[in-house]
Amino acid sequence: MEMPRRALGQLECWLCLGMVLATLSGGAGDAAEALHARAGIRAQEAGGHIRALADDAFEGREAGRRGGQAAGRYVADALAPLELEPAGDEGSLFQTFASRQGTLRNVLALLPGRDPAVRNEVVVVGAHYDHVGYGNARNSFGPFGFVHNGADDNASGVAGLIEIAEALVGLPQPPRRSVLLAFWDGEEQGLLGSKQFLKDPPTALEYRRIVFAINLDMIGRLRDNTLSVYGTRSAVGLEEMVIRLNGPQAQTPLQLVFNWKVEPDSDHYTFLQAGIPTLMFHTGLHDDYHRPSDDAHRVNLSGLEPVARLTFDTVLQVADAEEACPAFRPACRAESNATKSQLQARAVLPADSPGRWGIGIRVDLANPTAPLVVAIRPGSPADRGGLKRNDRILEIAGVPISDQNDLMRKLAAVEPATSVEVLVARRGRLFVLVWTDRHQPT
Ligand SMILES: [Zn+2]
Repeated sequence: MEMPRRALGQLECWLCLGMVLATLSGGAGDAAEALHARAGIRAQEAGGHIRALADDAFEGREAGRRGGQAAGRYVADALAPLELEPAGDEGSLFQTFASRQGTLRNVLALLPGRDPAVRNEVVVVGAHYDHVGYGNARNSFGPFGFVHNGADDNASGVAGLIEIAEALVGLPQPPRRSVLLAFWDGEEQGLLGSKQFLKDPPTALEYRRIVFAINLDMIGRLRDNTLSVYGTRSAVGLEEMVIRLNGPQAQTPLQLVFNWKVEPDSDHYTFLQAGIPTLMFHTGLHDDYHRPSDDAHRVNLSGLEPVARLTFDTVLQVADAEEACPAFRPACRAESNATKSQLQARAVLPADSPGRWGIGIRVDLANPTAPLVVAIRPGSPADRGGLKRNDRILEIAGVPISDQNDLMRKLAAVEPATSVEVLVARRGRLFVLVWTDRHQPT
């Protein structure tokens, strides 16, 4: 169900606030060892996997066919040397199941968590390795009958995930929670692999519970440094979590577009349907999508690297968190990009609004600690300080805000005729603004 416009209006709140665009904020640095492991995620190595999987020899990796079977073997061979527990059938890496197309196989490997208190909780990171073979009228934009190599879709996600698996194994100690690396088969035929996995979980999951999932599908065509992130509405605070992970410590912060669409177009949907908080990273569609021309040389390898590293950071953040994993937020299923437009709709501050700083914010129920700016009074301290509509406010004077009232209290507490630093997120990146209150107390 869509959030009605009126309900949103009731949440609006006018604040009086002012800026100068300053430096990027310094987020909490990753532990040195995690940084080192993450540095092992390399574009070049991912490129090797993409070139291999998108070679004509795999005949487009169609699930249940010779090429699909060979691709599953390739992935298993890449995982075999790593210190991971096979999580498929009978101690193998393969979870095998039958479909109309033949025998399909997920490739599953587990990194057991280190903390006995939460190691039964599992973070699933997945990418589908199948593609559409030679293409037909149902699954291809043509021309049909030629090998569809699926370099972006989804050799890119598979390559990123293999790199992430190596980085996880390279950590000096595993995260507190368990991490399951899942390479899905049959995605192109209707999310068959991920559905089978949840319907009939492998024995490795017998005494474990999936608390979070991440899906990588098509991460090989980063353009304008812009990454689409799906699913952040599936738990409270996920958008802010991803934004903070994308901070200056990320080395190559990306522009993030948060997409509110929940559609059965990739394996993240399976987990959302099951009520599990889930993110998907995706670099967007293109003219080669589901065509024979989705080839390895067209993949943006240097763009894949920061996406895979952000995924690694996200896995670590969730799997290693001291606090409990965030609960699923069912409202996400009813939200769409139209709901987002409603939330972001411009508001007008009355000319005589008494606000000292000159901002209007609107609470976002999925991100209560990051209110959205929907109005800025011209000439106000916020306006002069460079605040933009649709910025999210995260911190005042270096202190995270806990909710809208807390934001108001913190701004009211700023000494008259002084400046205050305000941390905002804009297109998924962090900026410190300086708002200067010019009014002298009377
Ligand atoms: Zn596809």
